[in-house]
Amino acid sequence: MSNASPSPIVPEHFLSPNDLETAKERFELAAMGASVGIWDWMNVDKEEEYWTPKFFQLLGYEDQEIRPTLSQFKALLHPDDWAHTFKALEAHFNNKTPFDVEYRLKHKSGEYRWFRGCGYASRNSEGTPQRMVGSIQDIHEQKSYEAELETLVARLKQSNNDLERFAYVASHDLQEPLRVISSYVQLINKRYHDKLGDGAKEFFGFIVDGCKRMQQLINDLLDFSRVAQHELTKEHLDLNTLMKQVERHVAKKMESTAAIVTYKDLPHVYGNRSLIVRLLQNLLNNSLKYCAPNKTPNIKIISTEKNSCWEISVEDNGIGIEDQYFERIFVIFQRLHTMDKYSGTGVGLAICQRIIHSHGGNIWVKSELGNGSTFTFSLPKENQDN
Ligand code: ADP
Repeated sequence: MSNASPSPIVPEHFLSPNDLETAKERFELAAMGASVGIWDWMNVDKEEEYWTPKFFQLLGYEDQEIRPTLSQFKALLHPDDWAHTFKALEAHFNNKTPFDVEYRLKHKSGEYRWFRGCGYASRNSEGTPQRMVGSIQDIHEQKSYEAELETLVARLKQSNNDLERFAYVASHDLQEPLRVISSYVQLINKRYHDKLGDGAKEFFGFIVDGCKRMQQLINDLLDFSRVAQHELTKEHLDLNTLMKQVERHVAKKMESTAAIVTYKDLPHVYGNRSLIVRLLQNLLNNSLKYCAPNKTPNIKIISTEKNSCWEISVEDNGIGIEDQYFERIFVIFQRLHTMDKYSGTGVGLAICQRIIHSHGGNIWVKSELGNGSTFTFSLPKENQDN
């Protein structure tokens, strides 16, 4: 077992023996307090090292229970961490790149634990490394959390993909049998109409309505799943032109409500054309649908430039929303009204959110019950794209 003591960090001729003792004690205390083990490779051409008591302790050993040498370190180092550790050492010696690596060392218990190792070499006048001093810090818990987190993220992605696939396949495959039910119910209703009593006619009416509603739900669910499958090809889009297109799509509804829709000098944004049209159309449609009784819908589209994105708001003077529902309305199939009051499936805003998230932006609402709503979405500028 080596008794080699470290050569002093401050040249001895500057310090009295008393000073030296104090400095050593200060160093040991600081090292203990910082929970790091210090190593001192006094001569890089030799095997011998000095390890502080904490170094041994971090590996589960008593002070000096094992020999502090380079070979000992190599024996403790996990075989898979050899290559990058010694590559980093060589790079530090040859190019003075910082020596800062993560590796596993074998604990006395036999378990490998993760450490962060840092070090710095002192050199002679020719620049040749002479001595190297460094530290090890236990990062095992942090690494375990990181690994756990990575596994969880991977599992979440997988289950998300599975759900995505399931929603798509289910909604796609449900369409056909529903079509069969719906058309045969209508056929029976037509062919045997004279033979049916009033009660039966009413029941057939319910079945047909139910089928139509289910068809609508399936179509919307299919639409929702398709947004994620959309290849996100982006281009520069003039929002003024897009708004004109959207207005044409909802022209009937605008006419029937005599709605006033205003926008001016909207910016050019960077995004997927059909998805952004879809987003604007859903928001405009909602503003027209949830208009206040006895009020002409007045809808304004406003843009605000921020450092890294554009914020676009669709502001209406409609029925408004209570603040407790601000998040819920973006969840698929969540609605605040019954079908007899306002038609819909509760998918529109979920699609909007999906579109905006796929563009790296966000969407939110500000509203007051009875006082209109403002839906705002942010769209990152082109150079913020990732
Ligand atoms: P749908 O309109 O089919 O119900 P959405 O996902 O588009 O589905 O909207 C979810 C809910 O959010 C609606 O049921 C409605 O209660 C509320 N909502 C959406 N837009 C507005 C709006 N402009 N004004 C008031 N309420 C709105």
